[in-house]
Amino acid sequence: MMNIRNFSIIAHIDHGKSTLADRFLQLTHTIEARRFHDQMLDMMDLERERGITIKMQPVRMRYTYNGSEYLLNLIDTPGHIDFSYEVSRALAACEGALLLVDASQGVQAQTLSHLTTAQKLGLTIIPVINKIDLPHADVPRTIAELKHLGFTESEILHVSGKSGVGVEALLQNVIEHIPAPVRTEQQLRALVFDSEYSEHGGVIAYVRLFGGHVRPRERLQFMATASTFEAKDVGFFAPTKTASEELESGMIGYVITGLKSPDSVRIGDTLTIQGNRHVTALPGYREPSPVVWASFFPEDQNDFFSLGDALSRLRLNDASLSYKESGTAFLGRGYACGFLGTLHLEIVAERLKREFALEFIVTAPSVAYRITNSGVVTELSAPHLYPTKGEADLVEEPMIAVELILPEEYLSGIYKLQEQFELTIEKTDLFGPGRLVVTGSMPLRAFVRDFFETLHRVTSGYASISYTDAGWRAADLRRIDVQVAGEAVEALSRVVHPDQMEREARQLVEALKEALPREQFEVRIQALVDGRIIASERITPMKKDVTGHLYGGDRTRKMKLWAKQKKGKQRMKTTGKVHIPTETFLKLLKK
Ligand code: GDP
Ligand code: MG
Repeated sequence: MMNIRNFSIIAHIDHGKSTLADRFLQLTHTIEARRFHDQMLDMMDLERERGITIKMQPVRMRYTYNGSEYLLNLIDTPGHIDFSYEVSRALAACEGALLLVDASQGVQAQTLSHLTTAQKLGLTIIPVINKIDLPHADVPRTIAELKHLGFTESEILHVSGKSGVGVEALLQNVIEHIPAPVRTEQQLRALVFDSEYSEHGGVIAYVRLFGGHVRPRERLQFMATASTFEAKDVGFFAPTKTASEELESGMIGYVITGLKSPDSVRIGDTLTIQGNRHVTALPGYREPSPVVWASFFPEDQNDFFSLGDALSRLRLNDASLSYKESGTAFLGRGYACGFLGTLHLEIVAERLKREFALEFIVTAPSVAYRITNSGVVTELSAPHLYPTKGEADLVEEPMIAVELILPEEYLSGIYKLQEQFELTIEKTDLFGPGRLVVTGSMPLRAFVRDFFETLHRVTSGYASISYTDAGWRAADLRRIDVQVAGEAVEALSRVVHPDQMEREARQLVEALKEALPREQFEVRIQALVDGRIIASERITPMKKDVTGHLYGGDRTRKMKLWAKQKKGKQRMKTTGKVHIPTETFLKLLKK
């Protein structure tokens, strides 16, 4: 049996996880030098373009230490809060985690939330201070903060993922301190922690074996979905998929199932040998509940089924995505989709466009609202369905408890956000030298608007935030509807606080004026609340110089042409539907 260690790298976004992983890959000669490039584990183009990790990525490395060979399975994870489900799933496949802290930033909100997840799973955690090469690295302060989290100074390692300092010592520390997987079980029992769809192999399950072994051509079964299949191939990540003879207990790898239906596998399911009655299912994962909702409508209604197909395949690779069919009068049939945040929404929209070549309209993101009418409680997430005044007995909205970590001098910046984001600050505590942890609550609705960006601005990027669900609260909000050329565009409706109604409405019509193409006729854009216009804009018609080709004198012919043009305008005004390009909806989404 091979010596195995399974570990994840967790950290706040940008603290250097993927860069450290690069150094590990080079140190262990996992990647040939000529094929190496930076951010090796950010394998999607989208990740490299944006410089962020979206997907967890496993990789197997070999390393010899004190005369023994080890298989080191590393899973690089995303740091952004919207992708924390990826992190929790990666952690459940490992025995340990490296908790990376950027020495120039110190402990940040996601450092804490990922640490809590890892602790709950009982993982061994190695605290690592990274980026010690930076001139403004503050190692003593970072040590103080890690001690505040319960670590002792002697267990903290100091590295630079960029220069490579301390990286080999860290890898050896992994071998010394992270426990080897327990391998007493004889029967195949594997956790499905991720998956993807391939045209050729169908569903590919990413698995961590907790018992037994798996080989190609074995008859296997997923316990929860009861789907059975013959393994077409098994292998490991190098980091590209590499076929092998066998995966044994304790290993991380993949199984190509050949199953063509995306529903045949569920993330968190247990893979075992077909017909095996003595295996109990692994605990799996708690499914995350969506934070924001938005609907996708195909540009061409004939693409409705292709869009559904694309969503079901994408969901295999993004288990935090949820969706259900929905429809509106204006846009036809589409899908209401749930996301873990607005960045997640943006990424899913982008992946659907790139990976499935689909064109679709995205509605304004919204949280879910709880409506009570004559004792009947329903939830809705499409803003255009939000009740107008008097239409419901009770409307409630979701609240979140927030935790912010920031340097003392930025506290005043946070106070400024209180009104705009309906933030209630409950407590301010000292957290390490010169730094504070602020706890409070706010409506999720205000948070998803652009709290991240605004917080970033008022604190020069020094504040970080994490949040948890904090139940429902009665809400008194207004629905803004939008009309373009006299027609309601349901996809653009949104729900806002009465104090922000005017400002939002103004911004919306202005943004639309910017984004919409000019037409032959004047286009009026109006924002309405309870049927009353509260903001409007006009897009002046394209000037088509119909008389340009006529020379000076011929006055009557000119008049005739003008009259014809005017009539044309009239006709289009009443019957013409303004075409709103799909790009416009995406633009509005990004503000
Ligand atoms: P991740 O979001 O945690 O995966 O972080 P990345 O690995 O993508 O790194 C974020 C940024 O920090 C990149 O610009 C890296 O080049 C930089 N970075 C990572 N590690 C170090 C380090 O040890 N020293 C310095 N100076 N920069 C680093
Ligand atoms: Mg990364």
